[in-house]
Amino acid sequence: MTTRHVPDGLPGRLQHYIGGELLDSVSGKTFDVLAPASNEPYVTAAAGQAEDVDRAVAAARTAFTDGPWPHMVPRARARVLNKIADAVEAQDARLAELETFDTGLPITQALGQARRAAENFRFFADLIVAQADDTYEVPGGQVNYVHRKPVGVAGLITPWNTPFMLESWKLAPALASGCTVVLKPAEFTPLSASLWAGIFAGAGVPDGVFNLVNGFGEEAGDALVKHPDVPLISFTGETTTGQTIFRNCAAGLKGMSMELGGKSPVIVFADADLDAALDSTLFGVFSLNGERCTAGSRILVERPIYDEFCERYAERARNIVVGDPHDPATEVGALVHPEHYEKVMSYVELGKSEGRLLAGGGRPPGLSTGNYVAPTVFADVAPDARIFQEEIFGPVVSLTPFDTEAEALALANSVRYGLAAYLWTAKLERAHTFAQSVEAGMVWLNSHNVRDLRTPFGGVKASGLGKEGGYRSLDFYTHQQAIHVTLGPVHTPRFGTVQKGQS
Ligand code: NAD
Repeated sequence: MTTRHVPDGLPGRLQHYIGGELLDSVSGKTFDVLAPASNEPYVTAAAGQAEDVDRAVAAARTAFTDGPWPHMVPRARARVLNKIADAVEAQDARLAELETFDTGLPITQALGQARRAAENFRFFADLIVAQADDTYEVPGGQVNYVHRKPVGVAGLITPWNTPFMLESWKLAPALASGCTVVLKPAEFTPLSASLWAGIFAGAGVPDGVFNLVNGFGEEAGDALVKHPDVPLISFTGETTTGQTIFRNCAAGLKGMSMELGGKSPVIVFADADLDAALDSTLFGVFSLNGERCTAGSRILVERPIYDEFCERYAERARNIVVGDPHDPATEVGALVHPEHYEKVMSYVELGKSEGRLLAGGGRPPGLSTGNYVAPTVFADVAPDARIFQEEIFGPVVSLTPFDTEAEALALANSVRYGLAAYLWTAKLERAHTFAQSVEAGMVWLNSHNVRDLRTPFGGVKASGLGKEGGYRSLDFYTHQQAIHVTLGPVHTPRFGTVQKGQS
C-alpha cells in the first residue's frame, strides 16, 4: 500500500494569471485534476477558452509594446532572471513535493528537476550578458551589423512530463530575449505551474510579461496557436500534436520550435563496459517513470553478450523499487494519469505477443490503486514490432540482438523518430563513426543523458523541428536584423541620368 501523502496547503482552485491578476475563465468553466497515486480529483483548474487566451495575449501584447521589458539592458533582465532562479532554489523542496503529488514522479527525481529549472534561468541570465552579435567590415567602406530584437508575444505550450522544468526551459530563454509570453501548461499537471505567478512577481517581472492560461490543448492551446498577435510558438509534446500545430501555424507563417516524441536506441557492443552499460540503460528508460522523451527504450545488444545482458538486465529491472512517489526510496512512481496508464498497459499486453517477457508485465503486487506499472522488459523484439517502433512513454523496454555494426546501424535508424541515441563500446573510432551515422539529434557515447545547457537540443525526423539550447534558443526568440551603414561616398549606379533621345 502507498501512504498517499497529501501536501499541506494545496490551493482550493487553480486560476489563470493574466496581466498580473489571478482570474477564472470568462465562461466559468473548470476541469478536475487527478492525483496519480490515488486517481482522486484534488483540485479544479480554470478551463481556458479562446476569450481567455485573447485576454492573456492582449496583456502580453501591451507589456511588449508599452512596457519596459523588451528594452531593458541585458544586465537588468539578467538580475531579474537570477532572482527567479533564487526563488526556485529557495522552494525546491516544496516544488518537488507538489510536482511529485501532481505527476507521480519519484520525489528524489522531482527535486533534481526543480534545481534544473533554477539553473535554466541562471544560464540564460549569463548568456544574455555575454552575448555578442556579428559585425562585418565590408571592403569599400561599409559596415554591417546585427541588431537583435525580441520577436513579440511568445506562445509556450508544454507537456506533463517534468512540467515545471520543461516550462522553465521555454520561459527562461523567451524572457531573457525580451519577449513577453503566454504559457499553456499541460492539463494533466497544472499544479507546479501555479507557482510561477508568485515567483515572477516577487522577482520584479512587470505585470503582463508572464501570463498563464490553463486548459485543454484543443481549446486553450489551439486558440493560442491561431492567435494573430502571437508570432511564434514553442511546443513540446507528441509528434501528432506537433503536426496539427504545424498546420495551424502555417496560416500565420509563425516561427515554430518543436520538441516531439522519441524512440531512442541504445547500442551495446560486446566490448563495452557491461556494468556501466547496465547501470546506464536501466536508468535511461526507468528514471522519470519512463515518461521521458529521450528514454533509451530500444536496447540493441551484440550477439555474444546478448544472453548475459538480458539475464542481468531483467534481474535488476525486477529489483527496481516501485511505489509511493513521495518515498525517497522509490525508483519508479505512478504514471501521470489513468488515460496514459491505459495506453502504457495496452503496449505491455501487446508486448507479450511481440517479445519474450523477462520482467514486469503488469501492475506490481501490493499496489492496487494508482497508475503503477512494474518495470517491464521484453527480449527478442523484432524491428517490425509495434513495441519497437512506437513511443510507449512508460517503464517498458525492448531488447534486440544484432550481429554486425551495419545491422546495428540499420536497426537504430529503422524508426520514424530521431531524438537521441546512446552507444556503448570501447572502440574510439567505431564510437565516432557510428555516432555520426546514426539518425539522432543527440548522441551520448558511453554515458546516459547528461546535458550541458550550451549544446543543441532537439531531434531529427519525427522528433522535432529546429534546435534549442544555448544561443540557439535566443536565436529563436529574437529577430536578427541586418543593418548596413555606408562610411564614405556611395557608389550607386546612376539610373535616369541619360536624357531621353540621347544614346
Ligand atoms: P501532447 O502533445 O498531448 O500535449 C502537449 C501540450 O500540447 C499540452 O499542453 C496540450 O494541452 C497541448 N495541445 C494538445 N493539442 C493541442 C492543439 N491541437 N493545439 C495546441 N496545443 C495542444 O503531449 P503530452 O502527452 O503532454 O507529452 C508527452 C509527449 O511529449 C511525448 O511524445 C514526449 O516524447 C514529448 N516530449 C518531447 C520532448 C522533447 O524535448 N523532444 C520533451 C518532453 C516530452
